[in-house]
Amino acid sequence: VSEGLRRDLARLIGAESVVAESGHRPYRHDATIQRGLVGEPDAVVRPADARAVAKTLRWCYEHEVALVPRGGGTGLAGGAVPVGGGVVVSLERLRRVRMLDPGLWRMSVEAGVRTADVARLARENGLMFAPDPGGAEQSQIGGNVATNAGGPHAFKYGRTGAFVSGLEVALAPGELARLGRAGRRDASGYDLPGLLVGSEGTLGIVTAVDLHLVPAPPLARALVVWARDIEDAQRALLNILASGVQPAVLDFIDVRAFAAASTTFPGRARRGPLLLVEVDGGGADVERALRELAESLSGNGPPASEEVDARALWRWRDGMNGAVSAVRGGKVSEDICVPPERLAQTLAGVYEIGEELALPSCAWGHAGDGIVHATFMIDPSDPDDPERGRRAGECALALALRMGGSVTGEHGVGWVKRELLATQWDAATLAAQERVKLAFDPKGLLNPGKKRPPAPDGRRGPRASQEQRRQRAAGAPNQTPGETVSSKRRR
Ligand SMILES: Cc1cc2nc3c(=O)[nH]c(=O)nc-3n(C[C@H](O)[C@H](O)[C@H](O)COP(=O)(O)OP(=O)(O)OC[C@H]3O[C@@H](n4cnc5c(N)ncnc54)[C@H](O)[C@@H]3O)c2cc1C
Repeated sequence: VSEGLRRDLARLIGAESVVAESGHRPYRHDATIQRGLVGEPDAVVRPADARAVAKTLRWCYEHEVALVPRGGGTGLAGGAVPVGGGVVVSLERLRRVRMLDPGLWRMSVEAGVRTADVARLARENGLMFAPDPGGAEQSQIGGNVATNAGGPHAFKYGRTGAFVSGLEVALAPGELARLGRAGRRDASGYDLPGLLVGSEGTLGIVTAVDLHLVPAPPLARALVVWARDIEDAQRALLNILASGVQPAVLDFIDVRAFAAASTTFPGRARRGPLLLVEVDGGGADVERALRELAESLSGNGPPASEEVDARALWRWRDGMNGAVSAVRGGKVSEDICVPPERLAQTLAGVYEIGEELALPSCAWGHAGDGIVHATFMIDPSDPDDPERGRRAGECALALALRMGGSVTGEHGVGWVKRELLATQWDAATLAAQERVKLAFDPKGLLNPGKKRPPAPDGRRGPRASQEQRRQRAAGAPNQTPGETVSSKRRR
């Protein structure tokens, strides 16, 4: 039946836009492959332009076929994984820069432009696109919008949504809509771009993004603050926050994560958890900020600090994910978000979970925003490790909720974080979330099963039972984060 589906799609948007079955492999997973999450698409399309995206959506809506939008596949929540089959709609060919106006700090790019290219283009024109998620050379601006991606510099400048002034989106049942106006503000109607940002492909398919950039700061300097232990790191963090200085970055790395990447550290490696702090702006502002930071850290036996070349530091920091993965060959990492004043308590909880499940654990993240990458290192070839990793991940999500935080601070819910959503939200929030989904996607065909709690029965929305049937057909109803899904054909 997949063959018939691919033939229909080839007739619709051209044979060159439909990937042969032999080429499906890269589209079966995203960066959650490390924890074993793999799906099986019924078809993969690479539409040539926005109109072809809308046409595909219209056809799928008419024929009740699920769609899974896909950007660069760097997601860490399984959002782009076709766990229940369906048509993967890859935006990779939408690569045009439609407009760049440095004088007005504006850029309009198609969804498939890579994040690093957006940032480079901005930089070359004296501007800055600050969101810098670790997979930026591969991730796409559409994927960044769909996950509201952050990264270290989001602490000062905000996540992707803070840079979005308008969107072009394919909406059900298959229309292209322009959300937002050419001006920088639009107070008319509900904030539809705001709803699409972070919607993880469940409300529409982003085809182009209007960005409002900021002037690039002339100078950025980075400081590494070495703490004696995690309580000391917590104190330093709170002192920095209380100092009134607005760092561009305020990240932390614990001793165990640092150990995985210490050999390539661009400064003088010491022992102890560390905070990475960057301040940016004009020369005098940066000098003053560094002075004030030093003062804020000076009381009560100051932690050691040293300046490190900012670019070298962020290059090194980008490799943290890979370095930690390399220790045992794999890892389960949850991007929980907790109040910053509970950082030390949260880390103690992460280590306890690791000990209980006999898995080495570590953590790093965007401390200023309270984002902790709670990580458990696994050997994917071990018969027990993946399952213990999955359980450790679940315990970390529960820990975040006990700390008054969220199961996800930046990677999104996707497929792997659905289970505890109903615990995090109250009934009214849950109902409001479901109503938003139904308003945009009444047939439940846009990235089914993602971003929302698993439906316990068929009563949660008109398509819930169909969705359950799809998931059952895919062998996925009892699937928990980390399990491998092998999908069957349904059409
Ligand atoms: C090493 C590493 C480090 C990372 N660091 C960070 C970090 O610091 N901060 C952070 O926020 N994230 C981080 N990430 C996660 C990831 O890079 C981001 O979530 C990124 O924004 C995903 O973009 P993508 O194009 O790869 O999207 P994909 O993985 O392809 O898709 C992600 C989700 O968006 C949807 N989607 C993709 N494109 C579209 C579109 N055009 N329209 C509608 N829906 C779409 C998909 O359906 C899916 O639900 C990291 C990932 C890696 C591998």
